[in-house]
Amino acid sequence: AKRDGKGVARLFTRSMREGVEQRHNMIQDIHEGLEKGQFIPFFQPQVSFDTGELIGFEVLARWDHPKYGLLPPADFIPLAEEIGVIDQIDMQVAIAGLDGLNKIRARGLKVPKLSINVAARSLRLGTYRDDLHKALKERGLSPSDIVVEVLETTLIEGKDDPAYQMIGDLASDGFDIYIDDFGTGYASLASLAQLDLSGMKIDKSLVANPEDRRANQVIAAVSSLADGLGLTIVAEGVETPQTYSALKRMKCHVAQGYGIGVPMSQDDAIGWMADYGAS
Ligand code: C2E
Ligand code: CA
Ligand code: CA
Ligand code: CA
Repeated sequence: AKRDGKGVARLFTRSMREGVEQRHNMIQDIHEGLEKGQFIPFFQPQVSFDTGELIGFEVLARWDHPKYGLLPPADFIPLAEEIGVIDQIDMQVAIAGLDGLNKIRARGLKVPKLSINVAARSLRLGTYRDDLHKALKERGLSPSDIVVEVLETTLIEGKDDPAYQMIGDLASDGFDIYIDDFGTGYASLASLAQLDLSGMKIDKSLVANPEDRRANQVIAAVSSLADGLGLTIVAEGVETPQTYSALKRMKCHVAQGYGIGVPMSQDDAIGWMADYGAS
């Protein structure tokens, strides 16, 4: 029994060591990826329910990993947060996104807004505001070109949290602030009401099933709440014509989802605009 125990222990140790090595490699890769600019933006279109017009693109991070290819955020953001480099990734992706916006606009195409994602940790560092202003200025852009998407969970701690204060500062600078994944984070309505918000994005978990009566009631309630506050409502995860119609009936303003366009490289986004008939 003892030997068995030892054997098991040794196996366990080996697989643990492999796990540690893999993690160690991944951490090294992230640092190298940051140096080499491997964190790149993909662009997902957002359109008006009313007119069908392009409202803008959301920038979604991808890691162009030399060995594993294009990786989605779920594969690197948790580790990047843990090792304290999420702010660098957020900024690298946002800046490349701004360059993409300028390149698309340089073709005479109309892109009213670019939405960027920012982690709570990046907002708490305090340099985010200056870095973003500098990046915009260097590219002839201004806060009015940008929507900053912050997760609803960022707001849970309320006004004593530096992230919350940073959001207030960004709003007064003229950035549109949208609450991301609304309906999943339990931010207090009081804290929402105190911030100068411009919009809410209804999480795709609520949008996914147009037959789900309870989800629809939540969407309708959020929609009328947002309407009262003068907020724009974006529905994410719009995949089917049925969902699109249902959300339009519920007075959502902006649609985003695979049914409209998937997240794309900059060149594919330009191609998408031509196909869509966006000017
Ligand atoms: P999110 O901000 O809620 O972005 C929407 C996610 O839903 C994206 O996943 C997008 O590809 C996916 N999506 C879009 N349309 C549909 C649809 O019709 N159906 C379904 N099932 N999914 C759809 P993605 O690109 O994997 O990003 C995941 C999350 O990673 C994002 O969720 C966002 O929270 C985070 N993220 C992405 N880029 C950044 C970044 O630059 N910085 C930070 N801090 N977080 C980022
Ligand atoms: Ca987002
Ligand atoms: Ca979202
Ligand atoms: Ca999400």
